[in-house]
Amino acid sequence: MHDVLPEDSPHWQYLEARVRDVLARYGYAEVRMPVVEFTELFKRSIGEVTDIVEKEMYTFEDRNGDSLTLRPEGTAGCVRMAMEHGLLHNQTQRLWYQGPMFRHERPQKGRYRQFQQIGVETFGLAGPDIDAELILLSARLWRELGIEGLELQLNSLGTPEERLAYREQLVAYFSAHQDRLDEDSRRRLHSNPLRILDTKNPAMAELVAAAPTLSDYLGEASRAHFEQLCAILRAAEVDYVVNPRLVRGLDYYSLTVFEWVTDQLGAQGTVCAGGRYDGLVAQLGGRATPAVGFAMGVERLLAVMEAQGGLPPHTRADAYLVLMGEQARQAGLVLAERLRDALPGLRLLTHCGGGGFKAQFKRADRSGARVALVLGEDELAQGRISIKPLREERPQETIAIDDLATHLAGYMDIRETAQ
Ligand code: ATP
Ligand code: MG
Repeated sequence: MHDVLPEDSPHWQYLEARVRDVLARYGYAEVRMPVVEFTELFKRSIGEVTDIVEKEMYTFEDRNGDSLTLRPEGTAGCVRMAMEHGLLHNQTQRLWYQGPMFRHERPQKGRYRQFQQIGVETFGLAGPDIDAELILLSARLWRELGIEGLELQLNSLGTPEERLAYREQLVAYFSAHQDRLDEDSRRRLHSNPLRILDTKNPAMAELVAAAPTLSDYLGEASRAHFEQLCAILRAAEVDYVVNPRLVRGLDYYSLTVFEWVTDQLGAQGTVCAGGRYDGLVAQLGGRATPAVGFAMGVERLLAVMEAQGGLPPHTRADAYLVLMGEQARQAGLVLAERLRDALPGLRLLTHCGGGGFKAQFKRADRSGARVALVLGEDELAQGRISIKPLREERPQETIAIDDLATHLAGYMDIRETAQ
């Protein structure tokens, strides 16, 4: 689990702001769910025979003896919320959320026990058009965040009936190669054989690659859904590859599944993953409701942006107010307030704690500010203030304090509020 430090938080804020903006432009509404739910919710939705439920959940008993779990993902809680508040009756919903998720995994680069997801879910929309919109939306996010080189992998998981027929073939195939299955896979052979395809064990890659593929078992409607999705993506010039092994780690998916993958983060290459889960609402006791969504891992996205040099440079201040002497110290804080009133776009750091010129300028420099504003006893007596550029070859100037806001607005190219 991580702390986000002062030098990193601007990157988080930058990413969050861009995502928030793009989602608003597609008409998605933000929702905020609790970080704990009844354990039962995750067992019933994610599935008992999954990595998450079998070994990754932070589960505890509260004081009433109820079993609660720190959410390992957001979809289950979002569906619970939508059902509980009647958001699914005769309505369509386009929702998103962000927040920490918790999984007791083996920590490594790109894999943490508390990590941040941004999730997008839609309800009441059954067609391939909304699947495509979600993918186009995610593609826009990468463009606007300056992320390059992600590969879009697509697959169709068909309907539960189609998967059942496929499942039999898969069990037959893996049963014939029992000796090559690892322990997890042997256990899943009968409980959840599709999950074997999702194995991260390189020793099983060859075996999995030669397994029967689900696409051969899809019916006409499933094929048409997938074909229409692909056609929209081609028309929008979004490249994709069909990956017949893509099954996703959770049980509740049907038809479309997709992942955005990078080769720049080693083994933890999936930065965004999602798909259709038409069966989940009914599985949780609601009226059957088509649904499709995706979730992205914020730490992994930031890591890709860092690897690609796409994190914007950041400074904490535009101007640093240097205050020499007791009177200036007092007057300075008042002046700073006036400046903030007049220039809402200005990031102004006021020196606190006294000290000499040298020490104050050192801090001014560290803040990244473009200019130091210097107010000493002499300046104060004359109603003037000095502006000393810290980053540019430009002469120092001394101007009337009353002109400072207008002067800075011009200098920094920021807007002044009408006074
Ligand atoms: P993986 O195959 O990498 O384990 P997953 O299939 O378990 O991923 P999802 O449940 O689909 O992941 O979560 C969506 C996204 O959240 C992932 O694509 C990834 O970017 C991110 N994510 C999942 N687990 C972690 C984790 N432990 N640490 C950091 N990010 C994670
Ligand atoms: Mg996982």
